[in-house]
Amino acid sequence: MRAYILEQHGTTESAPLQRTTLPTPRPKGNQIRIKVSVCGLCHTDLDTVEGRLQPDGLPVTPGHQIVGTVDALGPQASKHRIGDRIGVTWLNWACTHCKYCRAGRENLCDRARWTGLTAPGGYAEYTLVHEAFAYPIPTSFSDTEAAPLLCAGVIGYRTVHLADIANGQTIGLFGFGASAHIVIQILKAQYPDSPICVFTRGDHHRKLAHDLGAGWTGSPADTPPTPIDRAMDFTPVGETIPQALALLAPGGRLVINAIRKQTPVPPLDYVTHLWHERHILSVANVTRRDALEFLPLAERIGIRPQVETFAFDQLNEALLRLKQGEVQGAAVLRIGESPA
Ligand SMILES: [Zn+2]
Ligand SMILES: [Zn+2]
Repeated sequence: MRAYILEQHGTTESAPLQRTTLPTPRPKGNQIRIKVSVCGLCHTDLDTVEGRLQPDGLPVTPGHQIVGTVDALGPQASKHRIGDRIGVTWLNWACTHCKYCRAGRENLCDRARWTGLTAPGGYAEYTLVHEAFAYPIPTSFSDTEAAPLLCAGVIGYRTVHLADIANGQTIGLFGFGASAHIVIQILKAQYPDSPICVFTRGDHHRKLAHDLGAGWTGSPADTPPTPIDRAMDFTPVGETIPQALALLAPGGRLVINAIRKQTPVPPLDYVTHLWHERHILSVANVTRRDALEFLPLAERIGIRPQVETFAFDQLNEALLRLKQGEVQGAAVLRIGESPA
């Protein structure tokens, strides 16, 4: 099968992913094999290729927003049928019996495996996953629309949940890429009276934010007309953390949606950034429940991801555009025969 592999970490500019041919994998036990149609790109892929996240070993095939059809079943697999359209997220497997898994927090499982980091990912024609970690894709989404729902969307949904918003509270979104442009659609549906401020660089990102319902847009260093009750940080940089904290109202909360930050977090000042019971929380990964709740919700509230697609041989170029903040909405790699 055609696949990409990362043999050695390197800057995205050095085009570190190699195209190659690998044996088509065979499903064992409860695994299913997926014929991959498309795979969405994510900032976490940049962390993987550049070495901020460490795979168990190299080479590895990255990619963790996988949409495809079930094409072969392991001898014990019975949950899906051949031909079913399914998606795979960043959570590839969790142990199901540690204290975190038993408490419904399998996103924190010590033994969890991560798609495209510690388990083979979706930048390949075929991939394997345990049947319990694959989700039906609602019929109203095309393959390319569904791909960004599987990380940008699901992790965005978890971010909104952890933000603990009351309708009417002022919400601030820092960064406006794949995840935030889906999150704003969740917010407009679930918290219709909440004013939304979007802090982002780039006129095209601000225009998209306005089109999707932001009441105010500015750069991360700007001050909006009112303090922020709930801030969500989707940027890959550390600088936005003190910027967001400084704008929080008393009792406000900042939720940080990033597995790694590409630049350090500047020092915090107790009075400017933390005093008055401000909260900070990071979002770590996703659970199966997040995916199973979010995908039907996305269909019900009519989320429409904005997607830029790339041909199979353009992966390195697409990752570079993502790193440079040039992708409008979400980037998706076409792998099997799939709609453009
Ligand atoms: Zn991701
Ligand atoms: Zn566990």
